[in-house]
Amino acid sequence: MNDDAARLEAEYAILAQKLEALDREVAARNDAKRRTIDAAREVGAQLARLGHAAELADVSFDHDLARRLYWNYPDLHVAEIANPMRVHEGQVSRYVGSGEFEKPCFNGCGRTVVWHMRNRTDAQRQPRYCPECQRERELQRERDLRAMRAREEAEHRESVEALRAAVDAGVEIRRYADFPGVPHTWAVDENGVPLVLRDER
Ligand SMILES: [Zn+2]
Repeated sequence: MNDDAARLEAEYAILAQKLEALDREVAARNDAKRRTIDAAREVGAQLARLGHAAELADVSFDHDLARRLYWNYPDLHVAEIANPMRVHEGQVSRYVGSGEFEKPCFNGCGRTVVWHMRNRTDAQRQPRYCPECQRERELQRERDLRAMRAREEAEHRESVEALRAAVDAGVEIRRYADFPGVPHTWAVDENGVPLVLRDER
């Protein structure tokens, strides 16, 4: 086997390792999903027991709790929420109101944001930060970006200065080349002959 074939084989071996790592992560994600479904069904079963107990105690199910279950827990089936309410699944929407919620700003600034959820799975698209904090976050992102660009420019200027100093100092000029199938980059002379080979001649 020549070097190129060996290198290709090594690259395939690395790909196989990385695919195994991805398989492990996907399996972990599927496990987590299954555990979430199991936990939701446990809540559903508990709601059924609670509905029974509430009926025996002649107390109607708390509609605020129903509202929270409906909007905050899309993994619960509507039928499971309907059960302790002793209403039909299709009637639940009458009791749980609109998907409007006031939530504390994620930044902990004390202000609130209003969520307008159009459906039970809409939570991901709702605002996390109040307008003031959102604006501050965007300004901070811009500042970070400017600082990063300034850093890159400074590094580039430093490199150019070092290059200029090297040229001014009359550093010996070399060319470098890659040769197919040969590892490393090699200094070559003006005819493209690697210096290590030329010196051997
Ligand atoms: Zn805020």
